[in-house]
Amino acid sequence: SIMESNTMIWFRKGLRIHDNPALDQARRGCKHLYPVFVLDPHYLDPDQTAFSPGSARSGLNRIQFLLESLRDLDASLRRLGSRLLLLRGEPSPVVCRLLKDWKIGKLCFEFDTEPYGLARDKQVKDFASKYGIEVQSPVSHTLFNPSDIIGKNGGRPPLTYQSFIALAGRPVDPLTTMYSLLPPIGETGDHELLSVPKIEDLGYGDISQEAFSPFRGGETEALNKLDQVLEDKAWVAQFEKPKGNPSAFLKPATTVLSPYLKFGCLSTRYFYKRLDDIYTSVGKHTKPPVSLVGQLLWRDFFYTVAFGTPNFDRMKGNKICKQIPWRENEELFVAWRDGRTGFPWIDAIMIQLKKWGWIHHLARHSVACFLTRGDLFIHWEKGRDVFERLLIDSDWAINNGNWLWLSCSSFFYQYFRIYSPISFGKKYDPNGNYIRHFLPVLKDFPKEYIYEPWTAPLSVQKKANCIIGEDYPKPVVNHEIASKECKKKMGEALASPTSKINPLDQKASSSSR
Ligand code: FAD
Repeated sequence: SIMESNTMIWFRKGLRIHDNPALDQARRGCKHLYPVFVLDPHYLDPDQTAFSPGSARSGLNRIQFLLESLRDLDASLRRLGSRLLLLRGEPSPVVCRLLKDWKIGKLCFEFDTEPYGLARDKQVKDFASKYGIEVQSPVSHTLFNPSDIIGKNGGRPPLTYQSFIALAGRPVDPLTTMYSLLPPIGETGDHELLSVPKIEDLGYGDISQEAFSPFRGGETEALNKLDQVLEDKAWVAQFEKPKGNPSAFLKPATTVLSPYLKFGCLSTRYFYKRLDDIYTSVGKHTKPPVSLVGQLLWRDFFYTVAFGTPNFDRMKGNKICKQIPWRENEELFVAWRDGRTGFPWIDAIMIQLKKWGWIHHLARHSVACFLTRGDLFIHWEKGRDVFERLLIDSDWAINNGNWLWLSCSSFFYQYFRIYSPISFGKKYDPNGNYIRHFLPVLKDFPKEYIYEPWTAPLSVQKKANCIIGEDYPKPVVNHEIASKECKKKMGEALASPTSKINPLDQKASSSSR
């Protein structure tokens, strides 16, 4: 009977106890509960050819964040009388073997909308159905079920934010309640169960020099941060994006909860509920798309479009992506990636990205625009790969969606609106404190020159102990000229019939973020 059955909860994202429907469904009516996580070589295997330590898909900061999140999850499970069963290997075959060896009758996991996750999960579902194992996989990584929204829209994903929120409405699924005990783990046989490794033990070579991100992983940290962020109710009620200072780094201008949402250390549904309660209590508040709830809806918007669009992460074969003849230039690309473009605003952002694994939304705008349609005219997929690797919050749907947006490949087509790599940052931070912090080589430059150090007289450069062209690079392009050329090329590309531009899209997306 079901009371006798062994159940497995398979964690992947959703690294939390609170509001976790898969865990809640798993714990009910079983004798033994096996909480499993499989360290996946796809994300973790060391890649010595990568431009900084880590794996090909993930830099050290995100790996560290994952390990911290797993340690926290294990501690929380132990408080509930259970623990995390950690294994390493290709997840699908590992899970299938465990299902069989542990005589699992029911398997629960959170539904994953990413192509990689869908393929991985299909193998396990096929195996389960062959052996008569019940599978439950609730949707809880997002506020809404992307399939429902696509269904309501006649089988196609809504391509504008406005149409998305009109279809979505308000989330209706109740949050799961808390409990103080989980069913015990049964026999585990001779499977090798690991304790959560230290990052040094994963074989990434010499990482002793690396400075890690200031953001620590885990559900406990996520819930503490959420409480801190929501303490100032007036700030929450007045939150308006894209207003806000991208150069604020001592106290960032947004919540910095994205890494916790990415791994599901924080439930987006719980976050929404807490915001909604604050809105009710304070009365007057900002609205989507600019409000904090509006940000969570952006997240669901991109998840929905990504789920319903084949080849969403590519230009070729992607129906919603304009076909643009991006150029290849490895030297310029590497200068951008490594923070050596000679534009301090751009370089400081890329260094913060590498060191912290997080940058402000408008900082992401600045460097994404610069790489693609603003200055370098390099393919958005190249920039996407760098973000995917370095961001702790790296998220397949959101990252690709925003690169499509910023490169004017989809959603947004105002290619003539280019972020200046010189004056945009200066508006927020005239003294250049952000640059001085992340590019200490420029720290003694007078503020008149800090955004364009190549214009400083040699005497000024000498006094600042930084000769441009020696200690810090000259600009890799002339922004005036490069941006004009980019506009011309974008104009031509979008006007060409093969770019498949649709004037209706253009109108709908002009209500920009
Ligand atoms: P807040 O402003 O506090 O917003 C709260 C939450 O809303 C965020 O944590 C995030 O989950 C969601 N959100 C906010 N803005 C967006 C947005 N534009 N699209 C979708 N969801 C949003 N965000 C990621 O989570 N992962 C990514 O890989 C990612 N890649 C990006 C790439 C580019 C080129 C750009 C321009 C943006 C990208 N973003 C990505 C979106 C956004 O910049 C970050 O979500 C945000 O800056 C995270 O900081 P926060 O948590 O303080 O945001």
